[in-house]
Amino acid sequence: MKLVVLGAAESGVGAAILAQQKGYEVFVTDNGPIKDKFKATLDQYHIEWEEGGHTLERVMDADEVVKSPGIPDTVPVVRAFLEKGTPILSEIEFAGRYTDAKMLCITGSNGKTTTTSLIYHILKKAGYDVGLAGNIGHSLARQVAESPREWYVLELSSFQLDNMYDFRADIAVLLNITPDHLDRYDFCMQNYVESKMRILQNQRPEDTFVYWKGDDYIELELKKMKPACRQLGFSDTAEQGSVGYAQGDACHVEVPETLDIPLDKLSLKGKHNLRNCLSAILAASSAGVGMDVIIEALGDFPGVEHRLEFVRTVDGVTYINDSKATNVDACYCALDSMKTPVVLIIGGKDKGNDYRAIVPLVREKCKALVFLGADNSKLHQVFDTLGVAISDTNNMADCVAACAQYAEQGDTVLLSPCCASFDLFRNMEDRGEQFKERVHEL
Ligand code: ADP
Repeated sequence: MKLVVLGAAESGVGAAILAQQKGYEVFVTDNGPIKDKFKATLDQYHIEWEEGGHTLERVMDADEVVKSPGIPDTVPVVRAFLEKGTPILSEIEFAGRYTDAKMLCITGSNGKTTTTSLIYHILKKAGYDVGLAGNIGHSLARQVAESPREWYVLELSSFQLDNMYDFRADIAVLLNITPDHLDRYDFCMQNYVESKMRILQNQRPEDTFVYWKGDDYIELELKKMKPACRQLGFSDTAEQGSVGYAQGDACHVEVPETLDIPLDKLSLKGKHNLRNCLSAILAASSAGVGMDVIIEALGDFPGVEHRLEFVRTVDGVTYINDSKATNVDACYCALDSMKTPVVLIIGGKDKGNDYRAIVPLVREKCKALVFLGADNSKLHQVFDTLGVAISDTNNMADCVAACAQYAEQGDTVLLSPCCASFDLFRNMEDRGEQFKERVHEL
């Protein structure tokens, strides 16, 4: 059997290593340059590779293809495989064939990394033999090949789910479905919704599906699909059929037992994080973790960098780095969780955003807006008429200086940009790092 791996990064290299171990003839091909560390690994395993393009004569006779989730179906080599009918798998699908480990999988438009990290933290604390993989951590395939675990906690993007067919999640978590990446789904929301719902495919009656009942798309699809698995829906407030919600100053859960956890025992703050915590509680308890361990882990979870990350307090002003808020919904949730007047930094590479969703919160909470982008004109169109102070910046030094001017004791400066970062920064991590550096210089 010949396996071609398209894309030589974490997932592709891991798939190649596992495939070689399982007796495949493996060839790795990348359209761009391959990072030195991945080349070194492939060489160490004597796996053949090419970079800077695909040699069709060397790849088109593949029996199967493992494709990196970053590569769209529209690129010529993928189209050629699709026309030929060659099966195209994600690395997770491929790795799933070679393990009997329990799979706890998390997807959603926002909150995946936070929730995945939190669930992993809980399972580790409970002493489980558990690995972290998917969009985060090390490749699942490589872990299966070299350090197999009894459990895996997997963060799954819609792109990974698109190429998953037989893989089965023992426990699946679906946090929300809001518009994102529509350029990869023919600008059709329903296509994106169906991709996210694939996390449910193959689930059996003994498996569990944890989901947020506040999402209309999920509720509608569940009515159509009528899945056989056990369904645990949670919500923001008490409602019929919900087994977890906020009630007063507590997080109320009914599974596996009725319990109220005081909100001040949770290290993550904000309404959206409460949803993440609820899903983590339901998923971890379904995995058999006791409530006492879950509560302890919810209390000492350190959070994830660039997601509502506390940076520093300077002259009574709190600075928060939420650089990962690359869509409007994420910024909405961040603003919603703020309890003080806010100086909000927004802007960057616009992905066809509709900013009107945050206008009411901007009116209610923001004393100033600082735009941070190469082209801020669309932001001006939406926000100039609100009567909120506005500054226009196009680099982090000016941006943080402007924020410090506006902010007074008791205020919060929040970087939660609604946009991608590629106009001014290498990526969202670079944007967050630069923000933190400037704040530490204040
Ligand atoms: P993902 O991995 O899905 O991109 P992250 O955990 O990295 O999610 O969070 C991305 C952004 O979304 C952050 O700005 C965070 O504050 C916000 N966010 C986190 N959880 C949720 C949620 N449940 N609903 C909406 N936004 C969220």
